[in-house]
Amino acid sequence: MTGRSLKNQKLVVASHNPGKVREISALMAPFGIETVSAGDLGLPEPEETGTTFRANAELKARAAALASGLVALADDSGLCVAALGGDPGIYSARWAGEAKDFGHAMEQVEHAMQASGTTDRSAAFICGLALVWPDEGGLDYFEGTVEGTLVWPPRGEHGFGYDPVFVANGYDITFGEMDPDAKHSISHRAHAFRQLTDALLTS
Ligand code: IMP
Repeated sequence: MTGRSLKNQKLVVASHNPGKVREISALMAPFGIETVSAGDLGLPEPEETGTTFRANAELKARAAALASGLVALADDSGLCVAALGGDPGIYSARWAGEAKDFGHAMEQVEHAMQASGTTDRSAAFICGLALVWPDEGGLDYFEGTVEGTLVWPPRGEHGFGYDPVFVANGYDITFGEMDPDAKHSISHRAHAFRQLTDALLTS
């Protein structure tokens, strides 16, 4: 353990995605941590050139820490489908195209499943969280996973992204049908945040 603590730090959330910024700020608020987003600070969005969740989360956090001089937190996440060799994975946002059409992205996943002829519908959401400390350039990284099954057709109006086709193990409703507070207590992001707060916010 590094002995670093996030207490009384101002944090830049290295994202231009308002939904993600809102969710991360809400998770940090109970700890008295003030957050500002990379979008609010007008910071440029780095290209996600990494090949892992860790690499992409780190490069986003590093760019924001360098540009702002603040501790930076980035989230890189996605849906990994076993029968598709882990796709769409780190490319989950890109499968929705320029129009960010997740109806289309979910259809693409389903078409790929049908084409593969598989009966294995297991999948997992993964969330990587990287924190970069500007003074020493140090990195803390945490990863959370929630395992489940893909369903078709999509169900539910809550959440975002691939939530309407994902049923977590032990449940029979999709993340899209689940009350948001319930999803946030069992999700990949919740698991990663729990590790982060255990390591950096509880003394
Ligand atoms: P990123 O901004 O490159 O990390 O993109 C992550 C993408 O993964 C999002 O655009 C969603 O498509 C997908 N994703 C990540 N977390 C979730 C979730 O909790 N529910 C549904 N989709 C998610």
